[in-house]
Amino acid sequence: MYHHVKQLMYTVRVDVPDPRFGKMLLEQFGGANGELAAAMQYTIQGINCEDIARKDLLMDIGTEELSHLEVIGTLTRMHLKPCKKNREAAEADPLIALVGGGGVNLNNSQGNPWTADYLKISGQLEVDLRSNIAAEARAKIVYERLIEFCDDPGTKDTLQFLMTREITHMKAFMTALDTMGLDPLQIGNLEPTPSTVRKYFNDSTGVGQDGAEDARGPWNQADDIEYVEAPARLEAQVTQQQVEREINRAAGR
Ligand code: MN
Ligand code: MN
Repeated sequence: MYHHVKQLMYTVRVDVPDPRFGKMLLEQFGGANGELAAAMQYTIQGINCEDIARKDLLMDIGTEELSHLEVIGTLTRMHLKPCKKNREAAEADPLIALVGGGGVNLNNSQGNPWTADYLKISGQLEVDLRSNIAAEARAKIVYERLIEFCDDPGTKDTLQFLMTREITHMKAFMTALDTMGLDPLQIGNLEPTPSTVRKYFNDSTGVGQDGAEDARGPWNQADDIEYVEAPARLEAQVTQQQVEREINRAAGR
């Protein structure tokens, strides 16, 4: 059950409207990492969730994201409003000016329509929580970039609030995952094949123009890891030797 309160979650203030920046803000309204995508992803995961405590978490955050949608939509609208009447402002985005009358629509910053394809809903709680941790990280970095491109103090203040909440959510999702009592690599029920799961394939080899080279690190040199050197290249060498043998045999050498 939803209820709307005629008050924004965070007070929105714009000192100088900037239609071109408003267009950028649309990324967090109707874009892949935007507030509608977050609200829908968590809410629908919540509807599917059979863990009562974590269902509550998903519904709490999903609903907060709807409040964020209202905040970012209001902020964006303030920046786009001049598009309706002012020719120069309208040129910042003819689609918004001519079709939308300077209002927000569910498009990203390039005018592409919002799509449910943005959503990651797997029906498996530990998988969904990982998707959500990544989604919050992406939302955070988009807000950070918007803040860096912004010189309006009121706008920056609102974006700082929205960016901060994404870290709060990220922490909650991480804690909810950590406390599920699963091994960090346990996804679903089936066990991976032991001899296959421990192999690390050094599939990118040689030295690059910019000095890139084969790196060793904890991800490929722990005790439980078997480092396998360039398996495709070895395979190719074996095949080449076989071909040469066949050629020699056919030539009677
Ligand atoms: Mn949000
Ligand atoms: Mn969030």
